[in-house]
Amino acid sequence: MTTTTRSESDAAKHAISGTSLCVFCQAYSGNRDAFNVIWEDADFIAFRDRSPASLHHFLLIPKIHIDSVKNLTKQDTDMVRRMETIGNDILNRYQVPHTHRRMGFHIPPFNSAHHLHLHVQALPYTSLARRLEYPVIGGFGTFDKGFSWFAEVSQTIRILQRGSTVGTFPC
Ligand SMILES: [Zn+2]
Ligand SMILES: [Zn+2]
Repeated sequence: MTTTTRSESDAAKHAISGTSLCVFCQAYSGNRDAFNVIWEDADFIAFRDRSPASLHHFLLIPKIHIDSVKNLTKQDTDMVRRMETIGNDILNRYQVPHTHRRMGFHIPPFNSAHHLHLHVQALPYTSLARRLEYPVIGGFGTFDKGFSWFAEVSQTIRILQRGSTVGTFPC
């Protein structure tokens, strides 16, 4: 009886969060062939962005559904650190110099896919318009990040580590 109740409530949660409709969840459950997977382990999977904004452009996602960077808290700091390490490992494979690397998260409502994804990019960007989709705005005072719709991965780590959350406003 208890088991039935639990699985019903899980199913309800699933439906409410929209996980079953999530395109990125399908990269590791059911529709993997639709993705150009370039890296994978038990917890994360990376694939090429369908519409690359830069020389190389990959998306690294956790194999659990998390809506966005806005949902992350201090306890997720290690996960984001791990994503940064994997991103660098991937860029190492393509021999991308450190000065030509950019990694970060879009912040809702400016995210196009609603499953946490780290953009892992080798510069240059393909155009100025594409570059403007990934603005890294430095912080000031006690803020690690200024007003922007993109949080660079190291900014994200610093913000989470001090117990704050990532948003478009300075944080
Ligand atoms: Zn998902
Ligand atoms: Zn994005």
